[in-house]
Amino acid sequence: AKASGRDCVKRFDWKLKQALLDKVELIKDINKALKNDEFFLVYQPIVDREGKALKFEALIRWNHPEKGLISPDEFISAAEESGLIVDIGGWVIQEAKAALSKLQVARGPDVQIGVNVSPLQLLNRREGADVFLSSLITGSGELNRSADEKNGLVVEITENLLMEMDERTRQVLMDFRKNGIQVALDDFGTGYSSLAYIMNYDIDFLKIDRSFVQTLSPESSSSSLCEAIINMAHKLKIMVVAEGVETKQQADLLLQYGCDFLQGYYFAKPLRLEEALLYPIQKEI
Ligand code: C2E
Ligand code: CA
Ligand code: CA
Ligand code: CA
Repeated sequence: AKASGRDCVKRFDWKLKQALLDKVELIKDINKALKNDEFFLVYQPIVDREGKALKFEALIRWNHPEKGLISPDEFISAAEESGLIVDIGGWVIQEAKAALSKLQVARGPDVQIGVNVSPLQLLNRREGADVFLSSLITGSGELNRSADEKNGLVVEITENLLMEMDERTRQVLMDFRKNGIQVALDDFGTGYSSLAYIMNYDIDFLKIDRSFVQTLSPESSSSSLCEAIINMAHKLKIMVVAEGVETKQQADLLLQYGCDFLQGYYFAKPLRLEEALLYPIQKEI
């Protein structure tokens, strides 16, 4: 028993070492990717209750020179651990703003783009973090403002960020809104916050996590949950986006519950900018 225990430790040790080496390699590659322009953004349409597609979510993709296309789930956490997320995030914002201008020209001034922002970009006290934030805010002055003074940028943050929120972060969120940038709470329902808790923050949109949407059926517990989230959000004057809508039944139920916006493969996959520009503004729903 002793010997096999030792074997076990050895193998674990080796695996750990390999994982560590892989991560070091990955981080090196991420660093190169930024310099070599290997990242690009895709844009997933988000439709309103009438089937109008004026919102998009920007999602990062990595075209690795040897490994091919890599999804964000495989590198965002390494980018966060290494701090490179601050630089990636800065690039994402610049790229998304350029895309937003084009989309607004092609589809009208009400177009909005949601950008995923890592908690580290907001919580980080490193110099770079402040540079990122101020470039986000001042740079947004170049964008068109619609009649309601929104510039079309929506920052998507996860609910766990709210829990860690200090005075400075709260100030940052207020600055966003003062500058026409809206705030969406991403993956709602998967973290620890409650609707009562988010009442204390200025949130414009709440995105119901796709795990709830994908288990929707008329009698499921997800149904009551989605309906309750939508009703309560509306009482708090927060609009609701459902993520991961894949079927007509899910779309119909969500509309029946009063959901404001729908996003998912049922409507469209994330698209290259050229395709997003041409995506029908009005869809049958
Ligand atoms: P997320 O913010 O929750 O983004 C939604 C994810 O769901 C995207 O995965 C999207 O492609 C996928 N999706 C959309 N519709 C459907 C559907 O109908 N069914 C299914 N099964 N999936 C659907 P993606 O692009 O792989 O991104 C994964 C996560 O990576 C994102 O989750 C977000 O947390 C993170 N991420 C993506 N882009 C960025 C970025 O620019 N910066 C940061 N910090 N994180 C990002
Ligand atoms: Ca998101
Ligand atoms: Ca999400
Ligand atoms: Ca997610």
